[in-house]
Amino acid sequence: MPVRQDNLIQIDGGTYAFMHLPGGWGQTNTGLVVGDDASMVIDTVWDTSRAESIAQAWPDLVGSAAITEAVNTHSDGDHWWGNDTLPASARITTSESALHAMKEDTPPAAVARFSKLGSVASALPGPAGAMGSYMSRVTGGASLPTRGPRLPDHTFAGTDTITVGGRTVLLRDLGPAHTPGDVIAHVPDSGVVFTGDLLFIGATPVIWHGPLSNWQDALDHLLGLDAATYVPGHGPICGPTEIELLRDYWSWLDREGRAQFHAGRSPIQAARTLLTSNDFRPYAHWDSPERIVLNLSTLYRLWKGEAPAPPTFGRRARAFADAGKLLRERSR
Ligand SMILES: [Zn+2]
Repeated sequence: MPVRQDNLIQIDGGTYAFMHLPGGWGQTNTGLVVGDDASMVIDTVWDTSRAESIAQAWPDLVGSAAITEAVNTHSDGDHWWGNDTLPASARITTSESALHAMKEDTPPAAVARFSKLGSVASALPGPAGAMGSYMSRVTGGASLPTRGPRLPDHTFAGTDTITVGGRTVLLRDLGPAHTPGDVIAHVPDSGVVFTGDLLFIGATPVIWHGPLSNWQDALDHLLGLDAATYVPGHGPICGPTEIELLRDYWSWLDREGRAQFHAGRSPIQAARTLLTSNDFRPYAHWDSPERIVLNLSTLYRLWKGEAPAPPTFGRRARAFADAGKLLRERSR
C-alpha cells in the first residue's frame, strides 16, 4: 500500500504527519520530527505493508538526519506493532505504564487468529456472529505482524524531554485514560502536539481503561498548551474547537450514561437510548457511533467500583459482541 502524497502533511520545515484518514479502526496517524543531524518517529502502524511503505518514505524526508529516536504513545497495537520497521539503532521511548500494558496485551499473532475466526463466525446469527463481525471490522483486513514486534527500550514516568538533532520534544504521560499510559509529544518549536489516542477527531473515541476524569483533565491540558496544530491518533489534524467537542462528548456520556447505569439498564440498552437522544446530535456524524457501547462497558465497570480491566483482546471481545449487535440493528 503506497503512502500517497496527500496522506503526508508537512507541518513545517522539519515536522511531518503521515495521516490515515478518515481515522477508523487501525487507521492511525504517525509523526516525524527532523532535526539537524537526527530525527524522531512518533508511533508505528500495525498493518505491515503500510508500516513498510511509511518507512520507505523516511529517507527522502530525513536526508542525513538519521532516525535515532522513536516514541510509542501507548499500548494499542495500531501505535507500535510496526516498530520492526524502525532502524535497529533507534532508541524507542514510551511511559512505564504503557510498556507494562504492551507486555500484558494480546500479541499480534493471536489477534490475527481471533480476527480470522471472527470473519468465519460473522455469518452466524446471535452474539457469536455479532462479536465475530465486529472483531474483523476492528482489524479491517490489516496484515498484522506474525511475531511480537520490538518493545520500547527506554521508559519514563510523568514527563521526559528528548533533544533530537537540536530540537526539543516534550513527552508527558497524561494517562491512565484511553489506556494505562497515554503519552503526548509536544514539539514547541513548531507548535505541534502529537496526542496519540487522547484525540479521536471525526471518530467516536474509545475509553478502554479510565478513569474518565483523567481523560477530561488531559483534554484541558492539551487546550492549555495552546498549540497551533494537534495531530490526533485518528482523524484529521485539528485545533481547540474539535478538542472542546470531544470534551463535551465525555461530559455528556458521563452524565447520561451514569443515569442509565443507576436506572439499572445494561450497557446496550443504555446505548440504544443515548444514540437516539437529541443530545447525541452534535456527535452523530462521527465515525463508529456504536463505540458508545464499548465506552459504557468500561465506564459501567468503573461506576461499579471495579478496577480497570487489562487491555487484552479477550476482555474487549465481550464488548465487541454488543457493538456488533448495535451495528446490525442500526443497519436494518
Ligand atoms: Zn489507535
